[in-house]
Amino acid sequence: MAFTLVIHGGAGNITPAIMNAEQEVQYTQGLQEALDMGYDVLRNGGGAMDAVVASITAMENNPLFNAGRGSVFTKKGHNEMDAALMEGKELMAGAVAGVRNIKNPIVLAREVMLHSGHVFLSDSGAAEFALSRGIEMASDEYFFNQSRYDQWMEIRDTNFTQLDHKGDNLKGAPLPNPGHKFGTVGAVACDEQGNLAAGTSTGGMTNKRFGRIGDSPVIGAGTYANNKTCAISCTGHGEYFLRAVVAYDVSCLMEYKGLSLQEACAVVVKDKLVQMKGEGGLIAVDAMGNHDFCFNSAGMYRGMRNSDGKNYVGFYGAE
Ligand code: ASP
Repeated sequence: MAFTLVIHGGAGNITPAIMNAEQEVQYTQGLQEALDMGYDVLRNGGGAMDAVVASITAMENNPLFNAGRGSVFTKKGHNEMDAALMEGKELMAGAVAGVRNIKNPIVLAREVMLHSGHVFLSDSGAAEFALSRGIEMASDEYFFNQSRYDQWMEIRDTNFTQLDHKGDNLKGAPLPNPGHKFGTVGAVACDEQGNLAAGTSTGGMTNKRFGRIGDSPVIGAGTYANNKTCAISCTGHGEYFLRAVVAYDVSCLMEYKGLSLQEACAVVVKDKLVQMKGEGGLIAVDAMGNHDFCFNSAGMYRGMRNSDGKNYVGFYGAE
């Protein structure tokens, strides 16, 4: 049986104008490395869930992406991370929100799924659970990143929050930061058994406050997997993705309306979200190994590798 792995590193205002040749090389390498980590799991007969965790861990460890090590700063100058993981056979899921100093939040999400008896843990409770399970921690210095810090300094004294992958802030006024880094990360996979899994990990939005949580760790909004339909990981303006229940909506259109993977993704991302003005995109795979990258933004960092020998990495629209 065939297998397929699809990843993203964030969607948004990603155009050749904001990328130089060196950045293109770095992102290509970062995405390829993440693809290879997950692909190796699948090639060695591993399951979709482990492949998803392997790919996301690689991106969490890469400061290019807004997840794990490269997470953005909150209003108080912390790095608060969210992550979720779901598998499509038993519909098991694990998620964490607002966690600090966890080296790989996606690993903690898997631990929540497998060992907590719960689905969703947050903040200090999630930290307590992490400690009890021996999850690897990292210092504040590990998470320090000069360009993220500079991004935060530009808006720290305002009440604006900034999507890591948008060229402007939520009030629409452009920020003088065309070279900034993008990148919530996610992965979806279909393994040799036809089992699906999805995962998403993020630092959220720069200058976020009040314990703001986006769609990424919310099962059904930013992350969803069901062997009967599809596995989805989203990236974009979380408030809209939450309200549109994006990942589950794609699954429902397939399950209840009989739409194909690509048709369902297009309805949600290019029609419903656009009407709501929700910018972003998603990656998707179904149990036949069909995949889709679907976004209504200028670009999305993305990649796909499968057992037919296909290997693809891209950033911009229409390529
Ligand atoms: N969806 C994420 C959030 O709102 C951000 C992103 O995808 O970059 O937290």
